[in-house]
Amino acid sequence: MASAARWPVPLVLALAALGLLGLALLFLFDPARHALYPVCLFKKMTGCDCPGCGGLRAVHQLLRGDVAQALRLNAMVVAAVPALAFLLIRARLHSRRRNPPRRGFAVVGWVWLLAAVVVLFGIVRNLPFWPFGVTPM
Ligand SMILES: [Zn+2]
Repeated sequence: MASAARWPVPLVLALAALGLLGLALLFLFDPARHALYPVCLFKKMTGCDCPGCGGLRAVHQLLRGDVAQALRLNAMVVAAVPALAFLLIRARLHSRRRNPPRRGFAVVGWVWLLAAVVVLFGIVRNLPFWPFGVTPM
């Protein structure tokens, strides 16, 4: 995997522009009120919330400053924001020091941990009793 410092600058700028455009769309158009966002096929077929259900609405609420509503819609997405910021800052600091973070087993371990958290969140959020079972759709 290439470090962020090795990525071509035009690619980084294009990805940043796309990300900002996506955030601007989410800020301006509430996914709960506009049909321009995709429908969750898992929810449509099973009636259960997938781990990502409510994620776009949660980001919309975060951009509007309503953290409590965002947590109600998708707590995993809200928790991912500071975790992602930490990982980006950490990767940037390591690339500046020319001391790349450990690869190999450590990365594989984090991927398995992330997969386990996503699956567990998908199960727990569909439990039919309090405080779970909050249906965002
Ligand atoms: Zn879903």
